[in-house]
Amino acid sequence: MTSKLVMIVLLAGSFFMAQAQQKAKPEDTEVWEPVPEVVKPGQVNIEAPADAVFLFNGENLDQWVSTNDRSKSAGWAVSNGVMTVNKQAGNIETKEAFKDYQLHIEWRIPENINLEGQSRGNSGIFLASTGKGDAGYELQLLDSYNNKTYVNGMAGSIYKQFVPLANPARKPGEWQSYDIFWKAPEFEADGSLKSPARVTVLFNGVLVQNNVELLGPTQYIGKPSYKKHGAAPIKLQAHGDKSEPISFRNIWIREL
Ligand code: MG
Repeated sequence: MTSKLVMIVLLAGSFFMAQAQQKAKPEDTEVWEPVPEVVKPGQVNIEAPADAVFLFNGENLDQWVSTNDRSKSAGWAVSNGVMTVNKQAGNIETKEAFKDYQLHIEWRIPENINLEGQSRGNSGIFLASTGKGDAGYELQLLDSYNNKTYVNGMAGSIYKQFVPLANPARKPGEWQSYDIFWKAPEFEADGSLKSPARVTVLFNGVLVQNNVELLGPTQYIGKPSYKKHGAAPIKLQAHGDKSEPISFRNIWIREL
């Protein structure tokens, strides 16, 4: 090889390497192993304590607004004490903003759920919504009953940050619950991080997140990082997949 040719090969090589480094992909932050152990949960039905405030008591969406236009009402369906995602209407979030809280929320994957992986009953609870769309800290919601996907994207995961400690998912068609203990991040006046967000989560009564320190708001691609924000609404995700929409009921909060 002539030295000129060697030069061209070297240049081309470094060019393609730089390209590969620049193009971060969603797959880069997926974790597939080890797979959390399946645990059959006991019976869970946490009745709201006297000092809890209902965010959804089965009657209406008065406590909720559209995320993309907070002046608009939340366009999800309510019937028989249950609210169901309307994918066209998009994400919804609470009118009120919160800091630290205990939250109880029940959800149901439809019995006739179709599709697979991340397209199977995907939704999520953004523990603090930091903007439009999916901005915020997502506790993933998905059918994790015999549904293989990356483990930091299964039900009970802090999406792409923390794998659940166990998989206590119930069958599609059955009601499931999250009990969430959220400590909001705190920031210095100059915007730097004072203390990260922390969360503990029970999934069907089983501990799946044990006081983990979040790395920042959820990032679908790339690494998370914090940006200063104050008290924030709680947001529910209308995921863009084509599977049957999921439902929620009995949502209550206790501010700490
Ligand atoms: Mg989701």
